[in-house]
Amino acid sequence: MTPFHFIGCQAIWIVCESQHQVYAGCERKGEVTLATQKILRLILGDQLNYRHSWFTKKNDNIAYVLMEIRQETDYVKHHIQKVAGFFAAMRQFADALKRKGHVVIYYRLDDPRNQQSLQRNIRTLIDKQQFTRFEYLMPDEYRLDSQLEKMSDQIPIPVGVADTEHFLTARSDVEDLFSGKKRYLMESFYRHMRKKHNLLMRDGKPEGGKWNFDQSNRQRYDGAVPIPQKKSFRNDVTQIVNMIHDCGVTTFGSIEPTRFQWPVSRRQALNMLREFTTKRLPYFGTYQDAMTTESEALFHSRLSFALNTKMLHPMEVIKAAIEHAGSASGPGVSIAQLEGFVRQILGWREYMRGIYWAHMPAYAQLNYFDHQNKLPEYYWTVETRMNCVAAAVRQSLEQAYAHHIQRLMVTGNFALLAGVHPDEVDAWYLGIYIDAIQWVEIVNTRGMSQYADGGIVATKPYISSAKYIHKMSNYCDGCFYSWKVGTGSNACPFNSLYWDFLARHRSKLKDNFRVAMMYRTLDRMKNEKREGLLQQAKQYRSEIALL
Ligand SMILES: Cc1cc2nc3c(=O)[nH]c(=O)nc-3n(C[C@H](O)[C@H](O)[C@H](O)COP(=O)(O)OP(=O)(O)OC[C@H]3O[C@@H](n4cnc5c(N)ncnc54)[C@H](O)[C@@H]3O)c2cc1C
Ligand code: SF4
Repeated sequence: MTPFHFIGCQAIWIVCESQHQVYAGCERKGEVTLATQKILRLILGDQLNYRHSWFTKKNDNIAYVLMEIRQETDYVKHHIQKVAGFFAAMRQFADALKRKGHVVIYYRLDDPRNQQSLQRNIRTLIDKQQFTRFEYLMPDEYRLDSQLEKMSDQIPIPVGVADTEHFLTARSDVEDLFSGKKRYLMESFYRHMRKKHNLLMRDGKPEGGKWNFDQSNRQRYDGAVPIPQKKSFRNDVTQIVNMIHDCGVTTFGSIEPTRFQWPVSRRQALNMLREFTTKRLPYFGTYQDAMTTESEALFHSRLSFALNTKMLHPMEVIKAAIEHAGSASGPGVSIAQLEGFVRQILGWREYMRGIYWAHMPAYAQLNYFDHQNKLPEYYWTVETRMNCVAAAVRQSLEQAYAHHIQRLMVTGNFALLAGVHPDEVDAWYLGIYIDAIQWVEIVNTRGMSQYADGGIVATKPYISSAKYIHKMSNYCDGCFYSWKVGTGSNACPFNSLYWDFLARHRSKLKDNFRVAMMYRTLDRMKNEKREGLLQQAKQYRSEIALL
């Protein structure tokens, strides 16, 4: 790739060999010779790509800057593990660059030189250290992308932008693939990616004869297979946590500072990947939708933080899984397990990013059902009698992690049934999870979970009554509410709220064939039963904070 190219006085877009658009800033006179420049390169907290081409050669004329700044700690209220995790990983990354001989400028949050914003720190560095050129990596968040673009117009030296060399698609690939189509079907995108990258393909056909093994997956956890012990690191982040508190950053959730569990270096990230492929992958698909109080992650990988900070590359994760499945020690990994996992990364992750760039910034305002309620306080305090919500929230506060079905079918499902404003739901998800970065969080939350985009991501709202939660978890055992009951003092709130949701939003959903069966069931109900459920829901909605 030739990342930078300047002509005349015009800011231009060029396309690099990997088909990513790269913005090249304004150069006032003639060609740029990098060797004669004194260059400042910015690395954001989620751009910790150890294998980026920027770092292949060391050059004393290039300084890399990383900053812990209030701008990033304060744009939403974050879980303490999230802030500490990002800072710890950034520090490890900076140290690794220094060890390789690169020039690194690192601003700690409490550094007196730190002016707590990207603009101010960069402007000061340029002025004081006479940099002749500024470069940054394409941000993944719209917020930072706009900020840096605007800033580039204001700084007095040429600016260049390079690709992060992380994703398997360009920002616009999903939009281009579905150009002119109303729906962006993930399944079509995923098949396109399988073919394009020749992954799990045999003679042009999908390995195992099917593209999708969801039918054989999705079992309840029955205890037949022991769940491996959680992979946890013992990073000491005490100094970071004290600094965060001393600086007055408001966070929530709990942390064990001397045994910080998440991977914060490339070595640890690889370690976690190895643990996943050898111990969890063999049952990943089977139990991917199961929930149990016995384990927070079951057979899930917990690799999202390492992936989203870019310590791991998505293709190396996919290849590691495929290689392990085909190795002498991995014959227990069936195609159903492997395909289930590959789909998450090759399909869902890239697809969500494509939707984000196709629809931002308007996406962040969408509220299809015009929901206006507040998020109940128990999303922060756990003080609810609903066992499933309490379990998912408690775990999220303690671990900064919940797996996909907990996020989608428990906390997300309930927020949707309760008519919570998507802004409130987004802020909670964006703050609480270790892996939450807007490009992936908002499309999952506002789109997939809250259907606030009116069906861009999901073909129907992900709602369920207690039946699904009971089927897929042990949460209903010992719950104050009864999963079998729709009305009465111990009726599970999910039951009446489910039918009430359908009744309230009939005009918006009636033409959706995927919901048609639910409406038929609602319409076939005896009047007395339907009215009872709707009355019960009305009562529950009026006292949602007390459930
Ligand atoms: C309401 C809601 C909010 C979410 N917010 C986030 C978020 O902020 N950040 C985030 O990374 N994921 C988010 N997800 C997607 C998914 O829940 C997490 O990626 C996953 O739970 C992370 O755990 P894991 O690494 O154990 O995943 P695994 O189940 O082991 O999956 C492997 C990897 O696949 C990718 N993946 C799986 N599902 C998705 C998906 N739907 N979208 C994108 N990537 C996916 C992740 O990188 C994940 O690490 C959200 C889902 C929902 C329903
Ligand atoms: S009974 Fe209802 S509230 Fe209780 S755990 Fe089951 S689904 Fe959740």
